Amino acid sequence: MPASSLLIIGSMAFDDLDLPSGEFRDVVGGSATYSAFAASHFTEPRVVAVVGEDFPEPTLGELARRGVDVSGIERARGKTFRWWGRYAKDLVSRTTLDTQLNVFADFKPKLPQSFTQSPYVLLGNIHPALQLEVLAQVKSPRLVAADTMNFWISGERALLGEVLKKIDLLIINDEELRELAGIHNLRRAARAVLGMGPKRLVVKRGEFGALYFDADESCFVPAYPLEDEVDPTGAGDSFAGALLGYLAQRGVLDRAAMRQALHTASTVASFCVEAVGTKRLAALDHATVRTRMSELRALVHPGD
Ligand code: AMP
Repeated sequence: MPASSLLIIGSMAFDDLDLPSGEFRDVVGGSATYSAFAASHFTEPRVVAVVGEDFPEPTLGELARRGVDVSGIERARGKTFRWWGRYAKDLVSRTTLDTQLNVFADFKPKLPQSFTQSPYVLLGNIHPALQLEVLAQVKSPRLVAADTMNFWISGERALLGEVLKKIDLLIINDEELRELAGIHNLRRAARAVLGMGPKRLVVKRGEFGALYFDADESCFVPAYPLEDEVDPTGAGDSFAGALLGYLAQRGVLDRAAMRQALHTASTVASFCVEAVGTKRLAALDHATVRTRMSELRALVHPGD
């Protein structure tokens, strides 16, 4: 595995999840947690985040055992970030019932010196002001990707606009794309959002896969059809982590690399949905990922 070149910032959280299969409380989650587990299959990501006194030490140990550099995760006085979401029966639509920033409210990210030279950066879903603060400390990155969600699109529109001007790749879901562009049609919304700054755009569509757009091309990658869909929380963050992890490992940003990265990201994200929280992702081995990647490829190209 190559030396780490991917920096991830995002939330580390306790999630309360109301799922069709039951109510789950204090589930360890957060955008950085999911992205780091997913990226750890391809590189040794460095994480910048803050947790409270209540965050479980074993989760940090688990990340470290998977090669994640956790030295940029600050443990602050107070409570860890909390999110409460309720899913509809079809697991497609979800409502945020509560968001508590807690230790994130006063977080001033300070990158360890060794993190400032990271060529690949994933600004995971978190307050756009924090995304900007981290980005300002990174020296000449090669690819900066950002994720966000409706909470910030409606609540921090101006700051998010600043983020969009500074990034290469935006990764959001279809609902967020429509909200950001104010346009329902996906192709036209994608063009409008590319006009806001990012050179590349990935639109995640849950069980319907993902679309990719840049100035020259667009393409589609399907989702792996699962038999047991349990909890989609973090699937988007896992997708982003695997995408960036794969690109960081490969070190190339051409069309072929991007297509392979999308295929890889779609595969890794599917595992996330098979269990509550990070359980499945954290236990995943490379051979299982490779097998499912081949299965997905065979579904798309049955004759190969
Ligand atoms: P996803 O399902 O990929 O959108 O990611 C869900 C994860 O994002 C959960 O584990 C939450 O803890 C985290 N999350 C939810 N809302 C926010 C927010 N406003 N800022 C940062 N992270 C969030």
